[in-house]
Amino acid sequence: MDKKGITKQEISEKLKEFKEEDMTYRSGRILGSMCTCPHEVGLEAYKMFLESNLGDSGLFKGTRKMEKEVIQMLGNLLGKEDVCGHIITGGTEANIMAMRAARNSSNIKDPEIIVPKSAHFSFKKAADMLCLKLREAELDENYRVDVNSVKELISDKTVAVVGIAGTTELGVIDPIEELSKLCLEENIYLHVDAAFGGFTIPFLGLSGRNLPKFDFSLEGVSSITIDPHKMGLAPIPTGGIIFRDRSYLESISTETPYLTDKEQFTIVGTRTGASTAATWALLKYFGKDGYCKIAKGCMEVTEYLAEGIKKSGFNLMVEPKLNLVAFDSNEIEIDTIVDELKEEGWAVSVSSYPRAIRIVVMPHVKMEHVKEFTDDLSKIHAKHVLNGVPQDDERETHLNLVDKTLQGK
Ligand SMILES: *Cc1c(COP(=O)(O)O)cnc(C)c1O
Repeated sequence: MDKKGITKQEISEKLKEFKEEDMTYRSGRILGSMCTCPHEVGLEAYKMFLESNLGDSGLFKGTRKMEKEVIQMLGNLLGKEDVCGHIITGGTEANIMAMRAARNSSNIKDPEIIVPKSAHFSFKKAADMLCLKLREAELDENYRVDVNSVKELISDKTVAVVGIAGTTELGVIDPIEELSKLCLEENIYLHVDAAFGGFTIPFLGLSGRNLPKFDFSLEGVSSITIDPHKMGLAPIPTGGIIFRDRSYLESISTETPYLTDKEQFTIVGTRTGASTAATWALLKYFGKDGYCKIAKGCMEVTEYLAEGIKKSGFNLMVEPKLNLVAFDSNEIEIDTIVDELKEEGWAVSVSSYPRAIRIVVMPHVKMEHVKEFTDDLSKIHAKHVLNGVPQDDERETHLNLVDKTLQGK
């Protein structure tokens, strides 16, 4: 650190230099992220509440009121009005809070949690921090959790079962209804991780798509993670944890002696009220209709992309139910495809199980980006499989050839 400060002007110039090295969602080149351009209505609200601290909410009664309303609105969206919970930093914190509530509510020695093999790595963090043994359930042929495998893993040490409504890697929805039945029978806490799917599945349902139930309408569901900073278009950091019953929240209470509140339930202490304000504003601004439109728009682009990927000579891992497409190739190594795409300026990500290229079709990914992307994919396919990049006038013939190759399969 320097002894003397520099001017605002100099700071602004230096900040711009840093910013220039960052990618932007707006460019349409970020294809592997679950975050997106935060919506302006959320940003305005966020800025307005920058000094608000929900960790000492007696000082910020307006923000506290807003948080209650947000949790209620999210509960309404997730099939139960009288829920409780908090707006926190993201899916990771939400999942840790849920596992902590499950552990504390059950009072079992050497506690274990059962998560699908497809679970987000935040459960590994949770298990490590909370001294829980992590048991991984197998997946079925569609990469959904195999309920029989969950059943086999249940023991008298199980404190929680986790189901995922929109997996991070493939966007797959686990059979939550069956998990709910099982957990009711066995009297086990069921947590649903809908960090990604929470802001799409209900709206796609309202738009007439037939998606499986995953929320509090299923009696066995004890808590749900839902992230406004993913498909909710809220600025980072904004996550949500919703509990069916207040007793779960009570089980993770800590006394807070010197603050205006007597107790605190979250992991972080000082907690921004700006995220809550942004979420409140966005839920009010869009309403169900607005979010339906966003979810439907993403699915249209997703379906177009999925077709384009198949036409370019690649294989989908699963038919997309949510706005996420994963694919591989019979002929080209995943790493080679990633490198080639990087050359063309695309930032994609790679899923670990199954290993595939993974594209999250967030609202910043538009038709024109997808068109450009699938053109590049065709070229990569041609270069590696058909041994030569087709010239523009040969493109037509090339695409026909690709179609024929596909039909021959
Ligand atoms: C993104 C995601 C998380 C983690 O959320 P963060 O906001 O990155 O902490 C957890 N679970 C699922 C299913 C996710 O998609």
